[in-house]
Amino acid sequence: MSGSAATCMACGGTDLRAVLTIEQAPVLCNLLCHSKEEALESPVAPIDLAYCNSCGHLFNSTFDDGRINYGPDYENSLHFSARFRAYSTALVESLDKRHGLAGKTVVEVGCGNGDFLIELCEASGANGLGFDPSFSGPRPEEGSVRLSTESFFESDQVPQTSLLCNRHVLEHVEDPAGFVAALANKLGAGARTALYLEVPNALYTLRDLGIWDIIYEHPSYFCFESLRRVVAAAGFGELEVEESFGGQFLSCHGSLGSKPGTGTQSLDALNELVEKFALDYEAKVTHWKSVLQDALQSGQKVAVWGAGSKGSSFLNIVDAAGQVEFVVDVNPGKHGKFVAGTGHSIVSPEELRKHPVSTVILMNPIYEGEVRESLDDVCPGAKILVA
Ligand SMILES: [Zn+2]
Repeated sequence: MSGSAATCMACGGTDLRAVLTIEQAPVLCNLLCHSKEEALESPVAPIDLAYCNSCGHLFNSTFDDGRINYGPDYENSLHFSARFRAYSTALVESLDKRHGLAGKTVVEVGCGNGDFLIELCEASGANGLGFDPSFSGPRPEEGSVRLSTESFFESDQVPQTSLLCNRHVLEHVEDPAGFVAALANKLGAGARTALYLEVPNALYTLRDLGIWDIIYEHPSYFCFESLRRVVAAAGFGELEVEESFGGQFLSCHGSLGSKPGTGTQSLDALNELVEKFALDYEAKVTHWKSVLQDALQSGQKVAVWGAGSKGSSFLNIVDAAGQVEFVVDVNPGKHGKFVAGTGHSIVSPEELRKHPVSTVILMNPIYEGEVRESLDDVCPGAKILVA
């Protein structure tokens, strides 16, 4: 692993193996580009995936945090999908049931535009404080929720917190162990704060070949064991780690200052998957390149559905030549924008009425039901292929 970090990003272990290199990926695949030219000039960098034999962590060993700059044009809200909102609502209910949040204070670090925190506080009667430097605001005060662009770690406004939520942040940071330790430290010695942490599940990438989830913004891909270790090392106990969102996420519940949970989990199954992952990855990329070629040669018009991480990866890897007509996304914030790296234009589902396609490549199988329903309305007869 020449030129690579010699230690695991999660546990600091040195027993590593190189897994896969993606020669060039957009540095920020959820960055909205305002023109095709801007999209084509977006910075790119290689991804060198390494695997830690000690804790099962998968990570980009040449990740450079200095390349990343999340600004107001960074857009990754999933709340425009009914399927995702249903997931979010079920999560809100289960967190309230678990913690009885009425009248308590919930802090969310990395709250995005606050959708989740507002829903949680409205449903439970909790008071919320959300931190996110990339939050573009201004957003009116919503009931008992306040949103801040301040850094949580630098804020002197952090109240006594019953529940700390941190969703889809840890996979973005260069030093996840240091980050969770800093969360614990900020809450303070003696705090009895509960934790809810959510990240993408590396097993979904390795087992279900969710290979389009490998993006530069995510230096880390957590498995049960690497996540458990990082959170336990920061002083959180009573840990429960489980799969969620159809296996695509890992959800971790814990409690600061309580006893460390149970022992380690075997990495045998993960080791086997990692062993063959590079071959599986190549086979899947080759398959999709030929699917796309065949479709185009037979005169079909092809669109991709989903302009998030998965859509961006897919297009950068499979269709750098720009043969896919356009990308459809339900998030209005993305319409009229362009995919970083490839310059594909992003349109609303309505656009398919004017510009019908014969094939839609769907980036996330979990949305198939709602996408089929939309297509039946705007582009009946279009075939769905799940990438
Ligand atoms: Zn490790």
